[in-house]
Parts: sequence; C-alpha cells; structure tokens
Amino acid sequence: MINNEDLLARVEKPGRYAGGELNAIIKGRDGIKVSFALAFPDVYEVGMSYPGFKILYHVLNGLPFVQAERVYAPWTDMEALMRSKGRRLAALETGRELSAFDLVGFTLQYELTYSNIVNMLDLGAVAVLAAARGEKEPFVVGGGPCVFNPEPLADFFDFFIVGDGEELIVETAAACRDWKEAGRPGGRRGFLEVLARLPGIYVPCFYQAEYTGDGRFKQLTAQNPAAPPYIKKRAVKNLDAAGYPTAPVVPFNEIIHDRIALEVFRGCTRGCRFCHAGMVYRPLRERSVAQLKRLARGLVDSTGYNEISLISLSTADYSCLAELLADLSLDFARERVSVSLPSLRLDSFSIEVAQKVSGVRKSGLTFAPEAGTQRLRDVINKGVSEENVLAATSAAFAAGWSSLKLYFMIGLPTETFADLKGIADLAFKVIDAGRRRSGRRDVKATVSVSPFVPKPWTPFQWAEQDSVERTKEKQLYLKSLLCNSRALAYQYHDPQAGALEGLFARGDRRLGRVIVSAWRKGARFDGWSEHFDYGRWRDALSEHAPAAPWRRAFGEGEPLPWDHVRPGVAPEYLLREWKKALKGETTPDCRQGCAGCGVCPALGVGKTMAAR
Ligand code: SF4
Repeated sequence: MINNEDLLARVEKPGRYAGGELNAIIKGRDGIKVSFALAFPDVYEVGMSYPGFKILYHVLNGLPFVQAERVYAPWTDMEALMRSKGRRLAALETGRELSAFDLVGFTLQYELTYSNIVNMLDLGAVAVLAAARGEKEPFVVGGGPCVFNPEPLADFFDFFIVGDGEELIVETAAACRDWKEAGRPGGRRGFLEVLARLPGIYVPCFYQAEYTGDGRFKQLTAQNPAAPPYIKKRAVKNLDAAGYPTAPVVPFNEIIHDRIALEVFRGCTRGCRFCHAGMVYRPLRERSVAQLKRLARGLVDSTGYNEISLISLSTADYSCLAELLADLSLDFARERVSVSLPSLRLDSFSIEVAQKVSGVRKSGLTFAPEAGTQRLRDVINKGVSEENVLAATSAAFAAGWSSLKLYFMIGLPTETFADLKGIADLAFKVIDAGRRRSGRRDVKATVSVSPFVPKPWTPFQWAEQDSVERTKEKQLYLKSLLCNSRALAYQYHDPQAGALEGLFARGDRRLGRVIVSAWRKGARFDGWSEHFDYGRWRDALSEHAPAAPWRRAFGEGEPLPWDHVRPGVAPEYLLREWKKALKGETTPDCRQGCAGCGVCPALGVGKTMAAR
C-alpha cells in the first residue's frame, strides 16, 4: 500500500515514500502478535544506508509472530504537505500509522537527529512525552551508539536497548507478545517493569535525576525495585551465529551507500582516545572467512548489486583480509562483482589492499592523521607517525591517485597553535613527497577539518570543548596557512553544529525541554546545513536551561550523567588513559596484548579473531 500516494507528485524524490521495494517484507495478519515500527530519524536515503537498521528488520521479521516495518523522517516538503492536509506519518510496508504499532524503535545514530525524533512522533500521532502516553499508544524504544548517554532523550523514550540489538530485540518482542496475551497485566507500567528486568534494558522513568545548587548533575537514583542501578550493555558473543540479512531491501532511488554492506567485524582494538565507536563497541569480534563468503553469495544473489563494501570500524585490520579478498574475487570473477573498503589505515599495506580492490576509485581515498604533530597524535593515541602518513599518501599518488583527502580534528585536548601549524606543515609535506615519489606535479589534497566533540565513555569525556568563537579563530588561522597553495583545498565544518552535538553528547535530562522548545521553533534536520539554525537552539537553551555549563571540563571524581549506562569499558581504564593522554603516553593496540580496558571480563565476551 502506498502511503500518501496523492502527495507524491508534489514532493522531491517521491521514491522516499513509495515503499514496495525488492525484498520488503509484508506478512499477512495471521499469527502476527506484535507490530514493530523501525524508525530512522533522518531521510530515507540515509536510513536505508545504515546496516544496523537492516539487521534489526531482518531479525524481527524472522520471528513468525512479528511484523516489522520501516519509517523514515519525511523531508520538509513532504512534512509541510502532510501537516497542511492533516496526514499522519505511516510505515512504508502497510501504510499503518505510527500510533497503531505496539512498539516504535528509533535508531539513535547521531545527536543532530534528536529534533527529528520529536517531529516524527508528533507527525505519527504518538504523544511526544513518554509520561503523557496513553495505555493504547506504542512503546517508544531507542537503540544505537547514542544510548551510551540517553539522558537528553529520557523524556521521549519509554525504554532503551543498550548494546548489540540482535538478541535483546527478540527478547523484547517476545516479552511484548506474552504481556499482551496475558491481558496486559499492570498496564504500561507493568510491561516496563518486565522489560527493566531484562539485562541491557534501561527504563528512564524508573530513575530520578538530581542537580546541585550551581546547576551540575548530582545523581540518578532508581525509584522502582525492577530497575537496576547500572545497565550493562549486551554484546553478541559469536557474530557468525548472529542473524545477518542476506536479502536486504533494495531501493528504487539512489541512496547514500548504494551497494551491499557486509560487516566483517564489530569492535576495534586501536584505542584512539577520542573515538566513541572504538570504545563502546568493544570487544573485537571477527566473522570467519567461510561465513563472510556465504553471506556475500546470498547478498549478491538476492539483490543484484555488483559491489560489496566490507564494512567495520577499520576493515584493513581484519585478520584474514588477504585471504578474504582473494576468495571473493575468485567467487565473483565471472559476475564482475567488485569489492570495496570504506576506510583505510595509514600504512603501505593498505595501499596494496586499495590497489587490489577494484571498488576503490582513484579519487576516493581518505587518510585520517587526525592531528598535525606527533605530540598530539600521541595524546590521542592515534598510533601513526609522520613517516606512516608520508609513505602511505605518496604510495597512493605513485599508484595513480591524483587527489586524496586528509582528515583532521581541531580543539583536541592540550592542542596549541603549534599543533594547528603542524596540520598545514604535514599537508605541504604530503604534496612534496607525493610529487617526488610519483614524478607528477598535479597531485592534490583536500584538508578536511572538524571540531573535536568530547564523547561519553571515552578517555576524553572529561575534556573541555572549544567554544564556537575559539573554533572559528582556529579555522581562520588554518585557512591563512593553507589558502596560498593551489595543490591544497581546505574544508571545515560548522562549529555551531559541533557545539550542539557536544551539548547532547554530554548533556543530561534538562535538555529534553530544550529539544521540545527548539522543535516548536522549527528545528528539523539539524545535521543538514541547509536546515540548521543555531539561533533556535540558543534561544531554547536560554529559555529552558540558562545556567547549565554544558561544554566545560568535568572533574575527575565528578558524577557523570551517563554513568549508569555501561558499555563494559571500566571507568578506571578511561581515567588511566586520560592521564596518560595528558602526559603524551601511548597505549598499544589490544590485538598485540590486552590493554586492560575491562570489557571482556565485564561482559563475559572475548576478543575473537578469524582463524587463518
Ligand atoms: S579487555 Fe583486553 S582484550 Fe578485551 S577489549 Fe579490552 S583491552 Fe582488548
């Protein structure tokens, strides 16, 4: 069923709303006990590209008693039409309105989507505030990396799933079926008490937050016997045994990542101190070559795609990469299916890999030294030297690439203007070394610079974030150093968007009313520069949380608003790493030996490497 079919001719990209794609799953009503809307708080092209969303769709629809459907944020043109005609937000598969589902599950991938969540609930006729939801309304659940500080969203969600969702979402759906079949004992609160007893589920209304007289977070205390003091994340032990979609939905229109996404491993061993994903997805769990080959075959056969992207946080680190690439190129040689890697490390092995995989276009290489000097790269534990950077980039130029991207952050802890100058110096050295090694004059690089945002559950969670004004000053300084070279282009990101991201990343429950206020003022799609308006947020903050010192440094013993949601990395390890960072001391990759982060013993899940 096409939802809002009469509006499609009047909006940009109607394929976003049409549904009916290859491999979309529509079940009959027989035997369905639980309806689950999987909601992505961004536009269709972004949401359809996110592998975690596809995994949950596949896992839930694999249960005979569940119908899972998809819903994405309508773009502003569609929203305006829907509101003018009194239409409701509905799922793509059956056109069922959001308010008619048992569960609505949002993927929380990025902080700047929070206004879209509120907007989607409102458009779907679901009460925005969890406390205002009636007995017949859906339960709203969130999952994904942002749940490692869910507090800014606590007012809107009935519960959160913390960690890998494959097993816990099945337990949640089964609990919902049982609760409904038992006659909904205890009403909404009864179901939330059942859920709160499941390991990995956080029910925010069962906790009360307190603040100090000077506006700081003081503590969060459980108010219900079902609610544990800490919520430990769930982690799948054996990825080979976990569900993975071999028949994902294939869109009609182009999406951001329009190819097969094959997850090679989960977790990362590098220990970069700024990296949220690197800390919260630990430990490393690799899929076996045999399983990856089986999945690749199924995916190619069921989708018709001719490109497989091997995804992970650092695919070149996969233990059996050479074997996997050789096997896949043999398996798919006749079908002309290419293999690509989305991210490459700064070492010459990666260039060899890049040359082997035909999917890496000659324009598409990004290197991420992250900082301009060795001192600062040691502070962030990046584990690459200037020699690594120059060897890798000049090897790329010699191998035929004519331009590449160098990615850096500014505002990192302990940074000085000498480190900023180091970014420009390194970029010039990359061009010089590239010209020498390739013998060409036309080599080019784009220096892309983002403001650093301190994230919870990283060693930099205690750091002060630069103000917008300070970030602008640094951006202009770098521009003055780079603008005279025809070989270098300079890209920088909006410091105001970075400020908002930092606000939500380390904020607390008081931000709920700020989000509602900014949404009422028109905030939507804050991650999109054409829609982002910092003024709305500044006004909402000054009206609802004027005293909160959001971007300041946190004291080492200070209570943190996210301390109850535990990814398994020990707080003592993070503090140790923070102190080592301030002294410029590095920590080795945990593939070479356990660095004592505490995840494996805390979760009872070991680091798994694919056997050669
Ligand atoms: S506990 Fe040790 S082996 Fe496990 S993820 Fe942490 S550092 Fe690596």
